[in-house]
Amino acid sequence: MSSHLLPTYARVDLAFERGEGVWLMTANGDRYLDFTSGVAVNALGHCHPHLVDALTRQAHEVWHVSNLYRIPEGEKLAERLCAMSFADTVFFQNSGAEAIECAIKMARKYQSALGRPERYRVVTFEGAFHGRTLAAIAATGNKKYLDGFGPPVEGFDQVPFADLEATKKAIGPATAAILIEPIMGEGGVRVVPHAFLRALRQLCDQHGLLLIFDEIQTGFARTGEMFAYERSGVTPDIMTLAKALGAGFPVGACLATREASKGMTIGTHGSTFGGNPLAMAVGNAVLDVMLADGFLDRVRKTSLLFKQRLAEIKDRHPSVIAEVRGEGLLVGLRLEPPAAELVDALRAEKIITVGAGDNVVRLLPPLIISEEEIAEAVTRIDRACTQIERVHAQPLKQGAAS
Ligand SMILES: *Cc1c(COP(=O)(O)O)cnc(C)c1O
Repeated sequence: MSSHLLPTYARVDLAFERGEGVWLMTANGDRYLDFTSGVAVNALGHCHPHLVDALTRQAHEVWHVSNLYRIPEGEKLAERLCAMSFADTVFFQNSGAEAIECAIKMARKYQSALGRPERYRVVTFEGAFHGRTLAAIAATGNKKYLDGFGPPVEGFDQVPFADLEATKKAIGPATAAILIEPIMGEGGVRVVPHAFLRALRQLCDQHGLLLIFDEIQTGFARTGEMFAYERSGVTPDIMTLAKALGAGFPVGACLATREASKGMTIGTHGSTFGGNPLAMAVGNAVLDVMLADGFLDRVRKTSLLFKQRLAEIKDRHPSVIAEVRGEGLLVGLRLEPPAAELVDALRAEKIITVGAGDNVVRLLPPLIISEEEIAEAVTRIDRACTQIERVHAQPLKQGAAS
């Protein structure tokens, strides 16, 4: 492996040369079932013909013009995103963390525009993940990500997961907003109770705070709804998106209501690449597919089938799988043995998955996966569980569990 890449990732020694649908191929012809989707990115699988068309067509027209000029594809994408959500306005970036930065700046600027610049703090939740910029790691609050990087960006108050009393206590005269993922992805596919999200909405209304949903992982049909907030019946003021918006092309977005965005006037924010014609062409192509009749219904049907099969696997392997969680095709298996053991055993079965917090393995197939491919994955997951049981059988008998 290259010694010239900054070694911040413990990469698996595996390179894929080609992708097609839910399959990834190595140079020597091995075929892997992709249940990572580039961490919830490749929602339409690999090399979806409509996306390839849109990207190559745009590549022959114009790649980049900057935000000093109108970008019609971006105007169209923003209009569509607003039509399909609560939002009135969109700012495009190139990543999730940048979308988070925009959301935090917007919330602070909103309070300032209302004549209360002393309100700049944001309440966040333990187990969250919001990205790796300095502000995003401060919002995330994970010591591992903050250690050694100097004083964390000031202005974040973290409270325990879904703890309403702690949330109320954290709100003070300097609070501007509450930031939460409706389902914590990296944190271990932890679904935030809808009643808690409703309580947050009430608190925000009562105290003049903005409610920010980070839907970077949950957005774009991953949960069986276009956005996870629709499941809860709670509407945020600001929402961050990225990952599946470009389905493999880097793009992020910060959506907001007209009211929440009112501090963001000319000159207050910017991005050289954000909303570039290539990204916008791909984003529109993603929506063409996702907004087509029957797309969401199919995701729901597939996810139901998958969850049923996984429940059976859990029953067959109670010493391996402690819990099946998640919504739609954002699925987590909480394990009895270390989660990494299943990730490795699955990779040996040629199905790639990704770990998460709380000893969870995430299963994030492309949303276009067929029932036959789900059945194939289930067979491989079952075999991997059997393999783990075999490895653990001896020590378990001697009373040295996990
Ligand atoms: C992936 C992710 C981010 C960060 O996105 P990047 O594109 O890696 O900066 C932020 N929030 C959530 C919920 C995510 O899943």
